[in-house]
Amino acid sequence: MKFCEDIFGDKPWIISGPCSAETEEQTLATARQLAANGIKVFRAGIWKPRTRPGNFEGVGEVGLDWLKEVKKETGMLTSTEVANAKHVWSAIKSGIDIIWIGARTTANPFMMQDIAESLKGCNIPVLVKNPVNPDVELWLGAIERLESVGLNKIGLIHRGFSSYEKLLYRNAPGWKIAMEIKRRRPDLPLFCDPSHIAGKREYLFELSQKALDLNLDGLMIESHINPDKAWSDAKQQLTPADLKEMLDRLVVRKVAPEQASLDSLNELRYQIDQMDHELIDLLRKRMDVCIKIGEYKKANNMTVYQPTRWDTILNKYSAMARERNLDEQFIGQVFTAIHDASVNLQTKVFNGTI
Ligand code: PEP
Ligand code: MN
Repeated sequence: MKFCEDIFGDKPWIISGPCSAETEEQTLATARQLAANGIKVFRAGIWKPRTRPGNFEGVGEVGLDWLKEVKKETGMLTSTEVANAKHVWSAIKSGIDIIWIGARTTANPFMMQDIAESLKGCNIPVLVKNPVNPDVELWLGAIERLESVGLNKIGLIHRGFSSYEKLLYRNAPGWKIAMEIKRRRPDLPLFCDPSHIAGKREYLFELSQKALDLNLDGLMIESHINPDKAWSDAKQQLTPADLKEMLDRLVVRKVAPEQASLDSLNELRYQIDQMDHELIDLLRKRMDVCIKIGEYKKANNMTVYQPTRWDTILNKYSAMARERNLDEQFIGQVFTAIHDASVNLQTKVFNGTI
């Protein structure tokens, strides 16, 4: 975390710049306005991983000279995406301050290993985007490969997950994965990239606010001097002025409030803890009854799973949830999980492993 505190100062830590560096003018014009609005770290992709060939694949090495110019003129630190050892060498040689690993690269252990080895001995900050698929272990694995060569300025970027289904957003937010990675690696700074989750600029505010409400540390947001004319990701980019307006609207909340409100929060948490304990005890009792039912079914040669009974109780509980103003889908998920666990337990009774 320390390296981010040193770079950015107060939270939320903001990284911004165009999806791609397109021309020297576009890169510098965007950078000048962002710097004037107080942005400290500039992003621009120069090697672009595109889903289909034939789209704009980045300007390549010449973009590194433009980023050098950005740094010289504005004083912002510069960052770009690297996807192989060659990119790493070029970026480091030209004085890039921070590199990031794209979602398609994080998903590939061979590429991560090569990149990690090429970074040996460098102390450059590396931000690792989540893999395109919602796999926390794969994300952790990529980080561990970098750590195993001695890197210790590592950060995370949550940018959502690919989905076959058509979604409101371009990528599924999968917030629970962001929370899980934060639980597993509380020592690492966690950024959100609302641009690649949203796919459309109209959703950027709500996603950014949600990220801050979940206590993420910073945001990487795409900004372009003329978003509609951008050569990549045109729909999701904001002008530097619109970015400033959006950032100003975000509400930054504290994790730990003042002592007085903390006391009432503790009281409420105490109540929740009591109820959770009761829930656990109840689940234990419920499982004990399930075991007895399993024994009965076994003795009477009945199947473990009885679809009509399950359908009846699921409907009954949905109706009860409605009456009590509880989210039906949530209650459905809870009882499906309980039912699955009961079926597993009874299967164990059947095959004698319990
Ligand atoms: C990007 O940041 O421009 C990019 C390509 O992101 P991702 O790897 O998240 O798709
Ligand atoms: Mn992009």
